[in-house]
Amino acid sequence: MTTTTKYIFVTGGVTSSLGKGIIAASLAKLLQAQGYRTTIQKLDPYINVDPGTLNPYEHGECYVTDDGAETDLDLGHYERFLNAPTSQANNVTTGRIYQSVIEKERRGEFLGKTVQVIPHITDEIKERIQILGKSGDYDIVITEIGGTVGDIESLPYVEAVRQLRWDLGEDNGIVIHLTLVPYLSAAGELKTKPTQHSVKTLMESGVQADILVCRTEHNLPKDLRKKLALFCNVREEAVIQSIDASTIYDVPNLMQDQGLDKVVLKKLGLSGHTPDLTQWNEFLKRHKNPKTEITIGLIGKYVELQDSYKSILEAFIHAGAENEVKVNVEPIHSEYINEENVKLKLGHLQGVLVAPGFGERGIEGKIDAVRFVRENNIPFLGICLGMQMAVIEFARNVVGLKEANSTEMDAKTKHPVISIMEDQKSITNMGGTMRLGAWDCSIKPDSIAYKVYKSETIKERHRHRYEFNSTYKDQIEKAGMIATGVNPDTNLVEIVEVKDHPWFVGVQYHPEYKSTVANPHPLFVAFVKAALKNKKK
Ligand code: GLN
Repeated sequence: MTTTTKYIFVTGGVTSSLGKGIIAASLAKLLQAQGYRTTIQKLDPYINVDPGTLNPYEHGECYVTDDGAETDLDLGHYERFLNAPTSQANNVTTGRIYQSVIEKERRGEFLGKTVQVIPHITDEIKERIQILGKSGDYDIVITEIGGTVGDIESLPYVEAVRQLRWDLGEDNGIVIHLTLVPYLSAAGELKTKPTQHSVKTLMESGVQADILVCRTEHNLPKDLRKKLALFCNVREEAVIQSIDASTIYDVPNLMQDQGLDKVVLKKLGLSGHTPDLTQWNEFLKRHKNPKTEITIGLIGKYVELQDSYKSILEAFIHAGAENEVKVNVEPIHSEYINEENVKLKLGHLQGVLVAPGFGERGIEGKIDAVRFVRENNIPFLGICLGMQMAVIEFARNVVGLKEANSTEMDAKTKHPVISIMEDQKSITNMGGTMRLGAWDCSIKPDSIAYKVYKSETIKERHRHRYEFNSTYKDQIEKAGMIATGVNPDTNLVEIVEVKDHPWFVGVQYHPEYKSTVANPHPLFVAFVKAALKNKKK
């Protein structure tokens, strides 16, 4: 559509957690809905090469792309909003930038020069920013700069943005700065000073914001917008209010009402049209007008943190809308579940999801939960570790292998029904070494999975080291847990189902990563449907 790719940089000021990712995704949605091929990338200023080695307590869920990149959870929002896959190129960290510069230095590529933050690190950042743009696949690339302006670790990124705007030319690169306009209840006033300071901080690095997006709990009055425009060197129409929304899926409409897409396109010298949000708004209508509600238990060990299971929670929102039902997700800490209290904790639920995870903490509670739902015909979805726990439970309580376990939890177990993959045994590095990304799976025709996917071959995303141990496959299948999905090349088990149960499905992969507003994941849709049926019964 355009001859050169246009770049939009999104920076944040005043505080973190203002929702830069959602603003970026919403703007991208509005531009995409006007026919612009748009993508979003995130630059994270931490030293980890990727978030794969980060504890969910630190940084929320680790999102995984088709090409096996372990990424920031904002990429999940990008995919859910745009219904388009992202890749390794969409997430870059300081660690990755330095790693690549240091590798180049070792190869002698800098020809004896002193390697420095400027220009070498900033050049690497600039190159990474432009990878997607240079692919020719996009008219517009939105780059979200993680962290807050003024942080030491953000400086090289802001400097790279400053340089790039010069390189690209004025209307090929613009900066949207997201800030907070706090409300002081004692004074009964909205305050602009933090925004003024944050814009000034950005200017000290030579970057003038073109557009301000102001997060606020109250509507910004006209005179306040005028004041912000005057003090911050932006046009009044470029002061955009981002008011707290009841759902993140309202934000594209809110941004459209504020004219964000219009100012952006004008600044970039592109023509604007009315975005076609028909499908999006149909989803919103269904999401906001449920006919009934159900409660599904989410059993995990990071349940107190919203961000740790982000994609699962969003997948339930998509699947709920599809079924016109409100899905209440009840977080249940697996560490506190035991044989005695399991009925009390799970008895009222219409469905139970046992979450992915790593390590030993809380796994016996997960196993007790699986047993309870299996024996009481409650619809069950086990994801990754959740599926592995289902296999262990079945092996222990149905097959009779009392000591069945995963070698992740007990390396010397007598019955390693879940065990480490052969090619993982020699690996000592933790980062980026799991079975990652999209893998094929062949589905048995006579199965729930086949009814769900309506296809014999699917591709889903993985992130794990351990597997169903096929030595036990015959024994487990004979007892009634069937491997209904396997990898066609390696025969690794991808899906298990319990025969004499209304809806019991465990998957070694992560379906939640692929659920989007436009394409709710069929497995979540079917699981919610099964829970709904269970409620009616
Ligand atoms: N810890 C398990 C494994 O590595 C499961 C991983 C997960 O749930 N993502 O195989």
